[in-house]
Amino acid sequence: MRKIIFLLFIPFLLFAYKIDIKKWDRHYTFYQFLKDYKIPVKIYYNLTPTIKREVRHINNGTVFFILKDNNNFKQALIPLNSEQQIQIIKKGNKFITKIVPIIYDTSTKKISITINRYLSYDIYRATGSNLLTHKLINIFSDKVNFKAIPKGTVINAVYEEKSRFGKIKDIKILFASIKNNYYHYMAFLNPNDGRYYDEHAKSLKGMFLPAPLRYKRISSYFGMRFHPILHKWRMHDGIDFVNRIGTPIHSVADGKIIYKGWIRGYGRVVKIKHKNGYITLYAHLHGWPRGIYNGKWIKQGQIIGYLGNSGLSTGPHLHFGVMHYGRWINPLKIKNSARITLWGKARKKYLSYIKNFIKENNIALK
Ligand SMILES: [Zn+2]
Repeated sequence: MRKIIFLLFIPFLLFAYKIDIKKWDRHYTFYQFLKDYKIPVKIYYNLTPTIKREVRHINNGTVFFILKDNNNFKQALIPLNSEQQIQIIKKGNKFITKIVPIIYDTSTKKISITINRYLSYDIYRATGSNLLTHKLINIFSDKVNFKAIPKGTVINAVYEEKSRFGKIKDIKILFASIKNNYYHYMAFLNPNDGRYYDEHAKSLKGMFLPAPLRYKRISSYFGMRFHPILHKWRMHDGIDFVNRIGTPIHSVADGKIIYKGWIRGYGRVVKIKHKNGYITLYAHLHGWPRGIYNGKWIKQGQIIGYLGNSGLSTGPHLHFGVMHYGRWINPLKIKNSARITLWGKARKKYLSYIKNFIKENNIALK
């Protein structure tokens, strides 16, 4: 990143221009930014639809750069997501925009940690970050009870660390294992689909999470019921999960958002299309996190909304519906869906990939 700022700005630095380093405030908008620097709104309208969406969803706290000459705007560089940034250049009276990649320092790390105190403490001490703990818990959450990790458990991991300005920005676990006297689990990131599989090409997680949120209770099941507001017998084509307003709602599977908005009765919703003819619906939401929009690809477990009480609703709850080839089905019936096992070409490719990986990284098999 330093390198790229330097390269982009170097012709100006010779003339002693000034760089302002700023933080994108919670309530700051791209529109306000354009106004502040007297940049014509036209440049926004000329962006591609994808970049338009990105500039409307710049994360709170994003560090961006303004290059000035005697207090006159010359250039801006604003990171849009983890990969791209927008560069706005003033040339005479004209403004030019470019989308340029963000350069990170990437390094591959290998660690072996023995849990002596507790997981997050021992991992933080070894890596200087909490990211590895979060990612490990996510990978093994279906297998391991992380509230009761026996002392002496050994965690091995190979991961890529991305940093900028010396700060760890993200990590990607390529391999992890967790071993003690009771169990030994291994997970390899399959570069072909971005999921984690074990040494037998079986996924660590099922296609669906058991539930899209942490809930207190289920207030209404799938089936016929007397509708509490309409006072009529109606088919209840989903499950109602009760919890506090604002509880994060997670997508139960990988997929693509096909609708985000308001549907009569359902209030604020998100609809996600998944593999094998499945669609999931999350209704009565209070709101959505930034970066949730139609057409966006979503990973299993990603937060897609917050529990609310919008639409026809008797109290804060999530209405969760699952459609299979156009028919609503009982979401509890997909709860224990089988894990994904790779077959055919995908399996061959994966097994040959991990064979190399195991050799290169000296990974001890079971
Ligand atoms: Zn419902």
